[in-house]
Amino acid sequence: MKFVWTKKANACAETRDSDEEDAACTLMHPPSTSETDAFTRFRATCSGPPDVWDRAPVASWMLDALRRTWHWVPIVPERELRTFAWRSVEALEGTDAPGLRELRRAVYGRLRRRTSLQELQSLQEATRADAIRNGTEGLRRCEPAAAGALALWHAATPFVYDAAFWAAEFAALHDAYVVVRGRAPGWEWVGDLGHSVLTRVKPAFFTTGRPDVIAAALAEARNRQALLLRDLLPAPFAAPPVPARVWRNHQSVFCGRCGPWLKDGVIDVIDDVRFRACARCDTPLIERH
Ligand SMILES: [Zn+2]
Repeated sequence: MKFVWTKKANACAETRDSDEEDAACTLMHPPSTSETDAFTRFRATCSGPPDVWDRAPVASWMLDALRRTWHWVPIVPERELRTFAWRSVEALEGTDAPGLRELRRAVYGRLRRRTSLQELQSLQEATRADAIRNGTEGLRRCEPAAAGALALWHAATPFVYDAAFWAAEFAALHDAYVVVRGRAPGWEWVGDLGHSVLTRVKPAFFTTGRPDVIAAALAEARNRQALLLRDLLPAPFAAPPVPARVWRNHQSVFCGRCGPWLKDGVIDVIDDVRFRACARCDTPLIERH
């Protein structure tokens, strides 16, 4: 696992004048190739989004499944996802910073329906510049408080899928940095000459020198989040199945356009076409019926 915070942070600092760049938190980073591959392999073993939800070892995969198939979810589970975001961040270092107190109260207030989405949005806007500046500085030094503050800031995002996803990601990073801060001082590093200036940058070097420690800490945090998310929202896809007549060839199903061209295709009724797509053109089958 490789961290690119410093590079991203510099990019953030250089483009701070651009309104467009300021519209998004530039500290967000896409998952690494190995993480994406692991998710793809896992998804291939699942029968559908409900199965992903039940078995995923990390919350981000569950949230990805939920978000991709939001149109199958009977009711947007705002309360549950916001609660998940809040519970992921409430105890983290950095979330009680004076500049974030109002935001923190607002996120908690949203669980009690005391805060509107508009209020969350305007508080997020008001704290955006500080959040990016402090986050940029702090993440460079692997400070748990910086990751914690960013986790809280994201928990206030009005669009609750983003709130849950990014609050959890930065919360996991917070936990990884706590481990880094604990382990780095005792780490024997070839560049360590005992100078105080080197001691300050040692945690950052530790993340490069011991990626296995970071990966284990992140995995542990994300696994805990998966258990919490399943506990708060046991069955988001619970809706009546939709049976339909489709073209079928052994285990694969096909849409009405591709089906007639199959060599051994038959028309058959299957119990549930939600989450099923044509094996040839990937069109969701439910739209055909
Ligand atoms: Zn098709």
